[in-house]
Amino acid sequence: MADRDGFIWKDGKLIPWREANTHVLTHSLHYGLSVFEGLRAYKTESGTAIFRLKEHTERLFNSAHIYMMKIPFDRSALIEAQKEVVRANQLESGYIRPIAFYGSEKMGVSPKGVTVHVAIAAWPWGAYLGADGMEKGIRVKTASFARHHINVTMARAKFAATYANSILANMEATDDGYDEALLLDVDGFVAEGSGENLFIVKGGVLYEPELSSALVGITRDTIITLAKDLGLEVRTRRLTRDDIYIADEAFFSGTAAEVTPIRELDNRQIGEGVRGPITAQLQQRYFDCVNGRLPQYVDWLSYV
Ligand code: PMP
Repeated sequence: MADRDGFIWKDGKLIPWREANTHVLTHSLHYGLSVFEGLRAYKTESGTAIFRLKEHTERLFNSAHIYMMKIPFDRSALIEAQKEVVRANQLESGYIRPIAFYGSEKMGVSPKGVTVHVAIAAWPWGAYLGADGMEKGIRVKTASFARHHINVTMARAKFAATYANSILANMEATDDGYDEALLLDVDGFVAEGSGENLFIVKGGVLYEPELSSALVGITRDTIITLAKDLGLEVRTRRLTRDDIYIADEAFFSGTAAEVTPIRELDNRQIGEGVRGPITAQLQQRYFDCVNGRLPQYVDWLSYV
């Protein structure tokens, strides 16, 4: 990723991609505290637009607030900077990664007094779990590793160290030939994928698990809005892994994963073992929405 043309926004200005470097004694590299976001920009008929830029930026600031990290820019500066990065890299569509992290002034657990840096990169990125998976559905395995307890790390924050837990789960699943992992919370209830929220469909109703130890996904919020607007009933409740085994349909949602159908969990076929009809409808609706084809949701698009 480091060796390519383009520009990265760092601490207030655009610099050449290859020069966006950081010292090896960066505090965040050693102790795992950086907060970040993942957004997508899509090509629409009226030009390239970043999807739900305001909400992602708000979550970035909330993540920083939870960990008492002071981002040295305000929301509007970072909103403008994210647009600038998409423009500077001449992207029609792509993924955007803002990150705030601690610098290298000192070692030791406490980051007090260490400078907070902010960087924003953007690059083209296709279907996160594969184009084939988007159509046919993916195979998922329940991880032997539990999601963090709510008092171990803070689930409302999107921050780097959570992803060590995601990596354990994802590597376990993919090493065994599955596409993605499902993480349960410490009580054994469904939490989320390693980088996605989960939905199931049962009897025509859309269910999401309680989000106690899961990230409150913005794509998830989009899906719930789209589903309700289509007249679907949406319920939130504790889900078990076998609720998924006997669901009619299941899918993951996330900025990177978008809407990815799940055709199998722990070697049990879900429903017909294909992308289900409600999943297909919501997936289509999602792509229509992010690509600016649904005028009622244009407020979610920020044109660059
Ligand atoms: N859970 C985790 C652990 C994630 O990393 C992501 C991706 N940010 C999500 C859920 C989905 O969040 P969003 O829809 O806001 O991208």
